[in-house]
Amino acid sequence: MSPPNSGPPPLKRMIVPALFVGALFLVVFLRQPNGPEYSDQWVLTGQTMGTAFTVKIVVPSESGVSQDEVETVIRAAVDAVDSAMSTYQDDSELSRFNRHGTGPFDVSESMIEVVSEAQRVAELSAGAFDITVGPLVDAWGFGPDPVADPPAAETIAALLASGGFDKIDVDPERGTLVKADEAIRCDLSAIAKGYAVDRVARELVRLELTDFMVEIGGEVRASGRKTVSEAWRIGIERPEAGPGGLWSAVTLVDTAMATSGDYRNYYERDGVRISHTIDPRTGHPITHKLASVSVIHPSCMTADALATALSVLGPEDGRAMVEREGLAALFLIRAAGGGFEEWASDGWPSENTVRATGVEQGESE
Ligand code: FAD
Repeated sequence: MSPPNSGPPPLKRMIVPALFVGALFLVVFLRQPNGPEYSDQWVLTGQTMGTAFTVKIVVPSESGVSQDEVETVIRAAVDAVDSAMSTYQDDSELSRFNRHGTGPFDVSESMIEVVSEAQRVAELSAGAFDITVGPLVDAWGFGPDPVADPPAAETIAALLASGGFDKIDVDPERGTLVKADEAIRCDLSAIAKGYAVDRVARELVRLELTDFMVEIGGEVRASGRKTVSEAWRIGIERPEAGPGGLWSAVTLVDTAMATSGDYRNYYERDGVRISHTIDPRTGHPITHKLASVSVIHPSCMTADALATALSVLGPEDGRAMVEREGLAALFLIRAAGGGFEEWASDGWPSENTVRATGVEQGESE
């Protein structure tokens, strides 16, 4: 996919270079002194939804579960979300809905669950989060297909007129979605990865595994502990392009965290940063100084959607929503003289957050 002819290859290609290209699974056994009975820590990695995932599981020695079983369960869970909610697969449930007209369209329970939550966050954020932003995302060059130039003003106006989360009706009883305008096309990229994290976690608990960390494309859920004496500590990146360092590390216990930002998935055009986060109220990419938003929430799906909603709202309006809703959020804001200013809400576990000096991404030691 190449964004508008901006000369050099788009920076977008810098997102999360696939560290294990082609490797569906890399499994590493680490013996963990986990108390009286030793246990193994399995580290499983792979590719899904155009990004990478890592699952770290502390497997008690008496656990009867096999590594094959866990691999199969994880792969099935992420593939199920990918094949339902991808706009990169023509035959996905979402792509078929996007091509459907205005009559009721039968969907799976998981689609009802995800679109219902997307609509709730859309209401909460007064439309800053809006899954009908799909055509605008594509028009600005962040969808599956290449674009030659940024969209013209009249194109943006037309796409704004046909979009709007209020034009999607979710009917959980009938298991259907209905669009009020056949031009509506939904994009679940800002919520479905978080949903996939929750889904993998549910499957691991079903296998009676309780101490694990699941991360997909930067959305994370931590369950139980890493060892008897250590909880899971998750890194928050410095919001800078390229393999960045860590800004801080936060200890998570039985909760989830999602981070959204404009520092990975963007390109520059005439010296202006064009972000993949689109403001559905204007049809344009965000331009404010809020570089990264992290949200902690019991649901990774909700954290994922809230992080994008707050990224759209920006530092002031985002902070107002955080305080109104009592959210646990961390903002990293570009400072005038360079660097970043940090704002953490009252609900953010500042006592469990340390400014990191390390470089490692994802889970920090
Ligand atoms: P987030 O902030 O979490 O999400 C930003 C994304 O949400 C934007 O890229 C845009 O798509 C959308 N968005 C922008 N503004 C808004 C808004 N105001 N409201 C709601 N949504 C908005 N990428 C590939 O390159 N290849 C693939 O095969 C591929 N398959 C995918 C399959 C699935 C099921 C999903 C969900 C995504 C897939 N992607 C694929 C997309 C890739 O994973 C995204 O780049 C990634 O999801 C963006 O997440 P993020 O954490 O970077 O940003």
